[in-house]
Amino acid sequence: MEKSHFELVILGAGPAGLTAGLYASRSRIDHILIEKGAPGGQVLTTDWVDNYPGFPDGISGFDLMDKMTAHAKRFDVNIMTKEVASVELSDPAVKRIVFADGSSLTCEALIICTGASPNKLGIPGEAELAGKGVSYCGTCDAPFYRNMHVAVIGGGDTAVEEADYLTRFASKVTIIHRRDELRAIKILQETAFANEKIDYIWNSRVTSIEGDKEVERLQLVDNDGNSSTLEVQGVFILIGITPNNEMLPLDQLKADKWGFIPTDNETLTSIPGVYAAGDIRSKLMRQVVNACGEGANSVVAAEHYLKTRSEQ
Ligand code: NAP
Repeated sequence: MEKSHFELVILGAGPAGLTAGLYASRSRIDHILIEKGAPGGQVLTTDWVDNYPGFPDGISGFDLMDKMTAHAKRFDVNIMTKEVASVELSDPAVKRIVFADGSSLTCEALIICTGASPNKLGIPGEAELAGKGVSYCGTCDAPFYRNMHVAVIGGGDTAVEEADYLTRFASKVTIIHRRDELRAIKILQETAFANEKIDYIWNSRVTSIEGDKEVERLQLVDNDGNSSTLEVQGVFILIGITPNNEMLPLDQLKADKWGFIPTDNETLTSIPGVYAAGDIRSKLMRQVVNACGEGANSVVAAEHYLKTRSEQ
């Protein structure tokens, strides 16, 4: 009969989840790592990763996650491919994972590593040129655009902060915003307005992203219906991210106002024995390097919980 109870369940096999699996396996914790698709998470679709230590020449997102998956498998991480429909956390002692097919399993400790997804514009060229000039992360990809002209779409804190960061590399950054004023907090606006490398196209939307093999130009339309073309070598779509929390019971588990999960320094959420690691965590920086660290940390914290929970 298939095993239906584990000491530890890890949800999601991106960098945080795979690292958590590796640490759980090496600690000989009775665990299972559940992922609905191929292991690797959002990084699988990242063209090139240049800021993960140990790879001085950089590495493609696919290869990096392939290596992380192989590393987890070398230590016999128990990976199950199945879609989770819901999580029940009302009983602090026994957490229940319910699958889309109606089956379920239980655990004593749970690590949530379900990540987040960047919001998409859904316009022609966006998917086709992703990783070929279309990016969703300025901090990750800025160095690829040295001395180039790039566009940033969005007017929130992320767009304005990343536009400023991009000017360390790009020769010019054009912020394209659908209204006539930015949403970003004033201090970020002041910094951006003082930056001579940033200019603005107001009251406008991008209708398509074009280029032969890489991004070459954007088609725009303003709020009066006038069309124009902007030649750029890159476009950063920074219109918010959405936490992958649809399976979580947010009436039981505390989330911030955007749906990310706050934790303490040890990745503990508002519920004993439930931890969050990686992009689903409420935090400032969302990168592979801190996702891995949090994944490792969460296992150490969960192991401590499993050993001491009768005393808690
Ligand atoms: P956000 O605040 O939701 O801003 C999203 C921006 O994208 C808005 O300007 C919005 O325009 C625009 N937008 C949304 N959908 C669009 C579409 N389909 N087409 C064109 N434009 C679109 O998201 P965020 O900037 O990622 O920030 C998320 C949260 O993290 C915020 O609360 C922010 O304060 C926080 N954050 C803080 C810091 C910091 O403290 N340093 C840094 C980054 C993020 P409208 O303005 O017209 O709605």
